[in-house]
Amino acid sequence: MEFRDLKRQYQVLKLDIDEAIQSVLSSGSFIMGKQVVELEEKLAEYVGVKHCVSCANGTDALVLALKVLGIGEGDVVFVPDFTFFASAEAVSVVGAVPVFVDVDSETFNLDTKDLEEKINYVKALGSYNLKAIMAVDLFGLPAMYDEICSIAKINGLYVVEDAAQGFGGRIGDRKACSFGDISTTSFFPAKPLGCYGDGGALFTNNTAWAEKAMSYRMHGKGESKYDNVTIGMNSRLDALQAAVLQVKLNAFIQNELEAVNNVAKMYMEELQHCVHIPRVPNNFYSSWAQFTITLEDEKLRDSLQLFLKNKGVPTAVYYPKPLSSQPVYAQMSLPSTSTPVANDLCKRVLSLPMHPYLTEQEVQFICSSIKEWKTTML
Ligand SMILES: *Cc1c(COP(=O)(O)O)cnc(C)c1O
Repeated sequence: MEFRDLKRQYQVLKLDIDEAIQSVLSSGSFIMGKQVVELEEKLAEYVGVKHCVSCANGTDALVLALKVLGIGEGDVVFVPDFTFFASAEAVSVVGAVPVFVDVDSETFNLDTKDLEEKINYVKALGSYNLKAIMAVDLFGLPAMYDEICSIAKINGLYVVEDAAQGFGGRIGDRKACSFGDISTTSFFPAKPLGCYGDGGALFTNNTAWAEKAMSYRMHGKGESKYDNVTIGMNSRLDALQAAVLQVKLNAFIQNELEAVNNVAKMYMEELQHCVHIPRVPNNFYSSWAQFTITLEDEKLRDSLQLFLKNKGVPTAVYYPKPLSSQPVYAQMSLPSTSTPVANDLCKRVLSLPMHPYLTEQEVQFICSSIKEWKTTML
């Protein structure tokens, strides 16, 4: 059994993917081009925003978003302490300061009450420009955008949505990648919509920002490629990746998103009386980048992980350390923040195999193994 079985997905989509790749090879055009423009149009339409600007990976998408918003030296961006490193790294790359905010223990996303407290705290320090909230749609679940956007509005902050794991999620009928002033995603192979290498994109309804992003991703180009009006990056999507993504987007829309939700439903039903299962708030829909359970403490988490490993069930700990404890941030003198929930979760979380091609028998086996472990613990 695999944690995320990309080989099975390829076997199912092989004919279409091989054909898409062949057509790029025959075209002889590899960077940007027709496939990329088509993909951007399809993604913007699916998400329901005016513009999608693709780029080289999800981290660059965040950097591009922050650059477009003019965020840099002396600016503060509020970032959840429980997420992948890149959410904060992008803030540091543009020279701004990440201030870490605690998360909710059941949704794993930004705790909006703590967000307000951290905002007031940094305001009182007086020495920073408060610029943006980076909300992360962790494990596929959109963050609490109604609350986050109203906090942003009151405080004059931008919202950047890091939907690297969130593509396909929804609140009501509004889709992930549409909640931020600028939203971003990643096409890293293991993300909900993944390609066969690195890839990413940003989304916005603001035409001037989309144009800026298109310039930044291509060395700050002006009228033409050899007219450079600003310091940009080299961050473009390959035609091969765009061709693969067009095939995978179809499969994602037609059945994969539903399939992961069926797997999640089985996990929930089987495990609800056995371990802490993740909470999906009313009216929210997750794209299940991860299915993450929570154990009572670190010892039990590690014990279950070992038990499952011996049964041939791979699991992962996302994340073993809060960002504020990463060596690079621990040694910086950032505005001090306490994030007890994030620290606690790192000791207790365990992510189970999750992908659209898991069979019912496999999910049953995983769940019965967890139940068996539980009886050995009593
Ligand atoms: C994966 C990820 C990123 C970075 O995406 P890459 O394509 O790997 O650069 C950023 N934020 C979060 C939350 C992620 O999970």
